[in-house]
Amino acid sequence: MIKLVRIVLTTDETLTSDYREVPLLDFLSCAPVEKVPNFIYSFLETQLPHENGLLIEAPYALRKVEAALLSHGFRREEIVVAHPRYVEKFIDEKTTIVGISTMDPMGLGPVSLMFTDGGRLTSYTKLKFLRLVDKLKLLRKKYGFKLVVGGQGSWQLLQFVEDLDIDHLVIGETEHVIGELFRDIESGRLDRVVRIRSFPSIGEIPSIVGPTYKGMVEVMRGCGRNCAFCSPNLRRARYYPIEKILEEVRVNVRAGIRRAWIHSEDIFLYKLEDHRSFYPNTDEVVRLFETIDTTYRLPHMNPTHSSISPVVADPTLLPRLSRILKAGPDKWVGIQPGLETASSALIRKYMENKPKPFSPEEWPRVVIEGTYMFNSNYWFPAYTAIVGLPGETDEDAMETARLIVTMEKILEDRLGKRARFIVAPLAFTSMDVLKSGSFDPEEHVTEGRFLLIYHAWRHIAKEVQNSLLNVMPKSFANMFIFYPLSRLGSWIILKCIRDWGIKKGFDPDKPVKPLELTITLPSTQRAS
Ligand code: SF4
Repeated sequence: MIKLVRIVLTTDETLTSDYREVPLLDFLSCAPVEKVPNFIYSFLETQLPHENGLLIEAPYALRKVEAALLSHGFRREEIVVAHPRYVEKFIDEKTTIVGISTMDPMGLGPVSLMFTDGGRLTSYTKLKFLRLVDKLKLLRKKYGFKLVVGGQGSWQLLQFVEDLDIDHLVIGETEHVIGELFRDIESGRLDRVVRIRSFPSIGEIPSIVGPTYKGMVEVMRGCGRNCAFCSPNLRRARYYPIEKILEEVRVNVRAGIRRAWIHSEDIFLYKLEDHRSFYPNTDEVVRLFETIDTTYRLPHMNPTHSSISPVVADPTLLPRLSRILKAGPDKWVGIQPGLETASSALIRKYMENKPKPFSPEEWPRVVIEGTYMFNSNYWFPAYTAIVGLPGETDEDAMETARLIVTMEKILEDRLGKRARFIVAPLAFTSMDVLKSGSFDPEEHVTEGRFLLIYHAWRHIAKEVQNSLLNVMPKSFANMFIFYPLSRLGSWIILKCIRDWGIKKGFDPDKPVKPLELTITLPSTQRAS
């Protein structure tokens, strides 16, 4: 029986799709609706299962809000986490708040900006968010609840909150204040935009009580490397104790989920003690994975994000982790580190702590050495590079294009086989952090930036062709439908980028010289 409740939590459909579990296909949600026809999108996005409209596995952020409300005195029967397609089933006059958690509501995130021509086109994330808001506004007319939006992408709505007629926009971490916040919203005592500037301590962050998509659990909040352009950097770094992490894994295991995605901004910062040089606390990182492994014996564990320098600083780190994760030629560990730029000047200006314990000048060598370490231990890094950082020169962007070409060449020579990595070029976006205009591909492209974007995508197309089949779940549909489709898709994207560059007056075939580097070990690497 459907229950009608006081608080309904939901999100847009791009965040309740598993994209057929094909790696990187979730970026499809950032594609422009004007260019990717709806039937292709609908065919590739598969929605998470639900039971009478209740999400069975929910995005982690929704589960965290649910748990926080429960810990602040709201009763179990007063809250639901609903699938966006069925949200209306739970709403009536008793409903006081419908809360939407967002990631990229207006398509202003770095991937969407790149795909949508600087926002001139409409990303699927924006389309689906606006459709959900429209649907809820119709329901609000009838039932009179408050429409509240929060989550990591809420900064994008600052200038649209009135036009969209959202009752409250919440920016910041809320676990420590959520009871008061929701009660004040119910009684109409809050401003339209609510910024929470304080942070919950680890003790104030309750553990999830319902299963999460991919068995995701969080192991830390914030980062601490202080990159000037980055919003997670605004949060203080805090680490979950292992007992708390096990408690969250247990919730998923009890629901039959036999995998754990270990989420952090940088897994190698877990329980960091050396805040000066950023040497990883390897024993604690290893103990984290070892404890989850020995407690639950899950067939699949995977960290989400990392940095590059720690794997070079401590050469024992990856081999120890790979043993626990059972990484090997048939089981690669995917990881998302930030490469950002090859320019030492930009590294020094905006992200001086990123290369530590190495220097900004050593960064290109650290990236190459790090990729070698990743690949030698069966880790597949999916790097991000930022295009259009404020003050970026054409030569800075060209350096990053040259780094991609250098990695292909040097690593193939060293590994004796093809190196495995991708570099996803992302548009710089200010994210309410660095007060500067975002990168607009149409307006701000230069030859160096074009060549960076082109060579990054040329390499992605090569990886899709050569590696994708190895990292996809093995099924008939994946092998004979989605793999060929992905190959075709990456080739079409590359052709579009070529044509766009030629139209702008650039030559995609202009030779890009590898960087002149001697690969000696960077100076502060510890002996293995
Ligand atoms: S290392 Fe990554 S997560 Fe940390 S502040 Fe820099 S960009 Fe943000």
